[in-house]
Amino acid sequence: MFEFTPTKELLGFIVDRINVGVFIVDKDCKVLLWNQYMANHSYKKQELVYGQDLFTLFPDLPQKWFRKKIASVFMLKSFAFTSWEQRPYLFKFPHNRPITGGVEYMNQDLTLMPVKNDEGEVVAVSITLLDVTDVSVYQTMLKEAMSKLELASQTDGLTGLNNRAHWEKRLLEEYNRVQRYGSTLTLIMLDLDHFKAVNDTHGHLAGDAVLRDVSNKLNETFRESDIAGRYGGEEFGVVLPATDLQGAMIVAERLRQQICAAPIHYDGVDIPVSISVGLSEYNPDADTHEKLIAQADEALYQSKHSGRNKCTSYPFDSSVT
Ligand code: GH3
Ligand code: MG
Ligand code: MG
Repeated sequence: MFEFTPTKELLGFIVDRINVGVFIVDKDCKVLLWNQYMANHSYKKQELVYGQDLFTLFPDLPQKWFRKKIASVFMLKSFAFTSWEQRPYLFKFPHNRPITGGVEYMNQDLTLMPVKNDEGEVVAVSITLLDVTDVSVYQTMLKEAMSKLELASQTDGLTGLNNRAHWEKRLLEEYNRVQRYGSTLTLIMLDLDHFKAVNDTHGHLAGDAVLRDVSNKLNETFRESDIAGRYGGEEFGVVLPATDLQGAMIVAERLRQQICAAPIHYDGVDIPVSISVGLSEYNPDADTHEKLIAQADEALYQSKHSGRNKCTSYPFDSSVT
């Protein structure tokens, strides 16, 4: 059979023509080999870099990090890898992509291979550098698209609040947290009063504007840690973690007063708006999060039955009305 042993010249020829960066450094990071690809991308010719200290040639390399990598290959006598996801690049090489996708320099994956002598001792480290800019740009774009999609799937289109499914999921999380670790939470449900009349009198677009305005007021009134969502057409829910009924009632009452004190301006018309509110604090009777919603809803309908534009907490004394 034909025996083939590549010559040094042939190997050197290949190393200089492959479309991958290859360079070799010794223990002190002096350059022993620098292929044409490295020369082209660094604008430093081979004859200028041989025998030179890598960090003198490239002062902005992450010296500490790279020395540690080299040292580990010497010590463990095995390969090491680094991916653009951990560190986007070693060298600040320009890239020639028309659409950069926010990538400033060529993104690089590195493979560090121990170069051993006949006794098996590591005498140098060979590094291959792969341009993964395209992969990184597409993966970053994909991640961004996925997170936008995820956000859209959780958001109510009209108000920008959590949609019902996501809001209930977050309520359940808070509910489970309280069940497991103690503390408390209060749930507020609220519904716009005579909202059908707003639509009938001023039109559906005016109704939409009212819903958006009320949502903005919810965002302004509640804390970042509170979870507001659109539960149904003109019904909203707010979860107040680590808040008892008294605390929640103060905020709910402030919101109710604020909403009925300031009519909503739409298309040159002032539209008076009021809300009816029901509150329920975590309690043993509400053994599921759905029951807690049902209790707050019951209190909300008590507010409706007793004249609207009111806040009622569960349990309530129905004989009062
Ligand atoms: P109550 O005080 O008893 O709550 O009376 P209401 O008129 O507010 O309640 P009702 O359930 O009779 O009517 C709710 C209305 O809300 C009917 C529906 O068309 C309207 N609605 C629901 N979703 C939207 C929406 O996204 N935009 C607009 N403009 N109206 C909506
Ligand atoms: Mg209503
Ligand atoms: Mg309703």
